[in-house]
This record gives sequence, structure tokens and C-alpha cells, in this order.
Amino acid sequence: MYPSRFDYMAPASLDEALAILADRGDEAKVLAGGQSLVPLIKLRFASPGLVVDLNHIPGLSYIDESPDGLRVGALTRHNHLVDSEVLSARYPAMAAAAPLISDPLVRNRGTIGGSLAHADPAGDWGSVMLALGAQLVARSSTGERVIEIGEFFQGTFTTALEPTEIVTEVRVPAPPPRSGGTYLKLERKVGDFATVGVAVHVQLDDGVVGRAGIALTAVGPQNVEAESAEAALVGAEPRPAAFEEAARLAAAAADPSADLRGSAEYKRHVVEVFVKRGLAHAVGSARAA
Ligand SMILES: Cc1cc2nc3c(=O)[nH]c(=O)nc-3n(C[C@H](O)[C@H](O)[C@H](O)COP(=O)(O)OP(=O)(O)OC[C@H]3O[C@@H](n4cnc5c(N)ncnc54)[C@H](O)[C@@H]3O)c2cc1C
Repeated sequence: MYPSRFDYMAPASLDEALAILADRGDEAKVLAGGQSLVPLIKLRFASPGLVVDLNHIPGLSYIDESPDGLRVGALTRHNHLVDSEVLSARYPAMAAAAPLISDPLVRNRGTIGGSLAHADPAGDWGSVMLALGAQLVARSSTGERVIEIGEFFQGTFTTALEPTEIVTEVRVPAPPPRSGGTYLKLERKVGDFATVGVAVHVQLDDGVVGRAGIALTAVGPQNVEAESAEAALVGAEPRPAAFEEAARLAAAAADPSADLRGSAEYKRHVVEVFVKRGLAHAVGSARAA
């Protein structure tokens, strides 16, 4: 199908892009990797009057680590994250998720900022960022604000972003000592969207769980943070009984729909299995850290 007509602008700076959005934000869509926006436009599910291409703006693709944590530029491609030694060394949930996103073609173009801004409940980064307690930086022509990831997601394909704003950076807190994490994804075949995905992050504190992050992909109207499961783990000894209880609570927090990938009951069961498995793995690596 051919898209409907739209204007195209390729600003050379962030300020220029923000000025364009200040003027025409209501009819505009920004273009990052185009891996979600272009199909939507071609299918006419989206018909923006203006496409603002971010790909000519320098300085939006980077992976910087400091004692405070990780700063990832919004235009960083999935494949740059796959290749990152910083992620493999200290951000295991991100390192586990990156190579599971689709296939090399999509990973070469798709960006972390575009994935989060798209807010697809089947997006893998959303769950990882919820489990890690990330923040997003959003810029407009009038300034900058920092949005907690849990407040950023507001529903299926819906975020807290204003039409005049661009996500410029993803911030992930530095993992404290004795932390571990992972991302588990069930897919029908390599490169598919998740049937179910589970992100887990655990920090041990004096032999008990100090902080737990658990979030679920493709089992609700948006990426789901399993808050009751997280709360049940805090202060608990990291043993199988605690993992089983957390897994049960996470499965109860899931709200999957039956589709070609499986029944709701099946998907809830996979959540339970993956949370147990993910916690055992995360705690094992936290103990070894
Ligand atoms: C065949 C296929 C398989 C896929 N499989 C997976 C998968 O398994 N797991 C997964 O997580 N994803 C998957 N994806 C989606 C992929 O990860 C995309 O990269 C992602 O959804 C969108 O990122 P993008 O950079 O391409 O954004 P675009 O398509 O350019 O934009 C998507 C949306 O976000 C907005 N946007 C983009 N960047 C910004 C920004 N910086 N600030 C504000 N708004 C912004 C755009 O206006 C648009 O509304 C798949 C895509 C395809 C085509």
C-alpha cells in the first residue's frame, strides 16, 4: 500500500528539530530507525502530515558509563547495544535482551529511543527498562524533563511524551555490588516478537534481596511491571520458595490475550516458569559478582 502524502524534513541539529515540532508537532511524527513508523505509514495506520527525520542530527547515538550509571543516546541502534562490552560486563539484562530483538536487519536500523517511544507492549526494551528502573530524558524547544519509565508508558502505543518532545537519552542507574539480571524471551521462531518475555534484575543486600525488578513483555496492554512480585522479594532470602511465590504473583499480574502465539493460560504459565528461572539465574550471578 502507498502512504498518504506527507512533508519530509531532515533537520541537521536537535534545536532545529525541536523548533519544527514546536511549530507543527500536532501533525508530525519523528523518524528514528523507521522499523515501526514506516510500516505503520505504509499501511496507513499512521498518516502524519510531516515526518521529521532524526538521522541527520549528530550526538544522539552513544553508550556512556559513569559511576552514576549508563546513558544511552536515543538514536543508538539495537546492534550497537548488542556489541557493547559495557552492557556485557555490567548490565546483563540489557545484554541478554539486545540480541533477541528481531533480526540483524531490524537491529541495524531500529533504535532504543524509537522502541521505547513506540510503546509496543511486545517491545523488549520496555520490560528491561522497567526492571532496571530507568529514566528517559525528553527535550522540547522550551526545555528538558526527566521521566521515570513507569510514568512514561501510559497504555498500548501511548506514552507521556508531548507532540513537541523528542526522547534524547535513556538513563539506567548503576547496578550496585552483588547485582544480577537477565532477559528471557519465548519466540515462535528466531526474529519474532515475544510470545512472552520476562526481564529480571536483583540486588542482594546482607544475604537477602535488597531490590528486585521484574517486568513482563507481551502479556498486557503495555509492558507490565510485576510490582507485587518485586515487593514480595524485598527482604526475602533468595531461595526457591521465594522465587516460586514471586513467580506466582508475576503470573497473576500478567493479563495476556489469546492469539496465534498461544492461549492466555499458556502465556501466564510461561511467565511463571520464566520468572522462577530468571530469578535463579539473576541471584546466581549476583552471588558471584
Ligand atoms: C519485522 C520486525 C520485527 C521486530 N521484532 C521486534 C522484537 O522482537 N522486539 C522488539 O522489541 N521490537 C521489534 N521490532 C520493532 C523494532 O525494535 C523497532 O526498532 C522499534 O519498535 C522502533 O524503533 P525505531 O527506531 O525503528 O523507531 P521508528 O519506527 O522510527 O519510530 C517509532 C515511533 O517512535 C517515535 N519515535 C522514534 N524515536 C523517537 C524519539 N527519539 N523521540 C520521540 N519519539 C520517537 C516515532 O515518531 C514513531 O511514533 C520489530 C520490527 C520489525 C519491522
